[in-house]
Amino acid sequence: MTKAESMTISTDQFPALLEDLRATFAPGLTRDLAWRDAQLDAVHRLLSENEDAIGHALAADLGKPPQEVLLGELALLYSSIKHARKRLKSWARPRRVSTPLLGQPARIWVQPEPLGVVLILGAWNYPFQLIFGPLIPTLAAGNCALLKPSEIAPSSSALMTELIPKYLDQRAIRVVEGAVDETTELLKLRFDHIIYTGGAAVGKIVMRAASEHLTPVTLELGGKSPCVIDRDADLKHAARRLVWGKCINSGQSCIAPDYVLVAPDQREELVAAIDAELQKMYGDDRLGSADYANIVNHRHFRRVRQYLDSGKVAIGGKVDETNNRIEPTVLVDVAPDAPVMQEEIFGPVLPILTVADLDAAMAFILERDKPLAAYLFTKNKDSKKRFVETVSSGNMCINDVIMFMAVHELPFGGVGMSGMGQYHGKIGFDRLSHLKAVMSRGRVPEPPIRFAPYSQLKMKLLRWFG
Ligand code: NAD
Repeated sequence: MTKAESMTISTDQFPALLEDLRATFAPGLTRDLAWRDAQLDAVHRLLSENEDAIGHALAADLGKPPQEVLLGELALLYSSIKHARKRLKSWARPRRVSTPLLGQPARIWVQPEPLGVVLILGAWNYPFQLIFGPLIPTLAAGNCALLKPSEIAPSSSALMTELIPKYLDQRAIRVVEGAVDETTELLKLRFDHIIYTGGAAVGKIVMRAASEHLTPVTLELGGKSPCVIDRDADLKHAARRLVWGKCINSGQSCIAPDYVLVAPDQREELVAAIDAELQKMYGDDRLGSADYANIVNHRHFRRVRQYLDSGKVAIGGKVDETNNRIEPTVLVDVAPDAPVMQEEIFGPVLPILTVADLDAAMAFILERDKPLAAYLFTKNKDSKKRFVETVSSGNMCINDVIMFMAVHELPFGGVGMSGMGQYHGKIGFDRLSHLKAVMSRGRVPEPPIRFAPYSQLKMKLLRWFG
């Protein structure tokens, strides 16, 4: 297919497209480390040579401020590409394992091998990050990829569809645009791995479809990520980081702090500290601030706006319906069963609930689905230890939010309802590889312990050697 054709691929061409990718994979083009490295470099060039166009697309889709384009999308991708390129050879190398006595003489190793063709379905909140982020380990591991950006961020989707054929090897990496119908058709095909980023409801659809072919899935989902303010926390410090984490991309981040748990007698002081930080960051006109993104579309605007009725508005509450904007809003007097506490908020509304102490906060979290992230602000070593050991979440940060995302050595992913499978760094390489166990025996004669005829002596020796 030509470049022009690739931009308007219809669903009935999907099977042929997949066959093309399989035909590329089979003879081994993508196994070559030099090819993998060149493609990773090409992803870097695609991004760095088109920063302006990417900024415009993200401004059109989400009103993303330029600094958030760099911070939330490009910088993470650049450093992740650099990290992967530097380590590619060592990740791909056979990994020696020691040989147990019974297996002697032999050489034993783990041989990472590519899986085949990987389907990557992106979400709209960080459109570039959520397509290229999973693509980096996919290519590093030597796979072909079929990419489908989210239709909810149409300018970003169109730009990726235009740029990818110009920079990446079309024999191995293809992109298609589309929404539910296109995704449904893609999911009928047999891929070797699917990486899906989005909500849990569609995650179930993806997993159901994948089960038809026994295709492994990585589901990067979301959930309600709690933020606990311990009794001795520095409230000013907590408020600053909390406001940043909640307001970046207007709260449309999968690991944004979703709600806060604090002791009743500290609530007012925390609310005042949050207001002071909002003032410092966004000034008087928070709704109109150029440093603050839009809600992605009117459907999501209406979804988030309805949460404003879930409690008493302590800060914010203004909305701009024409431009899909909602002021950073803090809610108090929120009942645990209020609508805002039922689903991931995914917007700039922060409910603050009160709990007696850290134990009550942890019990509150443990009663609910395991979140993608959990946060604690504390100065107390014992609180930190108990929180880390008690609360199960995909990722965790003490005395900050979100920042673990920038650490490539850390796996990133959910647990329970917040997802399955982790990527980023080496764990991403391993996730997108098959770690094949290989044993190569020597031909030196061995004591015939395992061979018939069996005997009591052989039984004894077997126990001893085993
Ligand atoms: P979305 O609407 O962009 O959907 C994601 C993908 O699913 C798209 O490619 C879309 O075409 C496809 N899709 C949608 N409906 C479908 C259907 N019925 N059948 C088949 N495919 C379908 O994204 P979203 O679901 O609104 O994303 C928001 C969620 O994503 C939040 O829960 C957020 O926490 C989560 N998220 C997670 C991460 C992460 O890395 N864990 C990152 C970003 C967002």
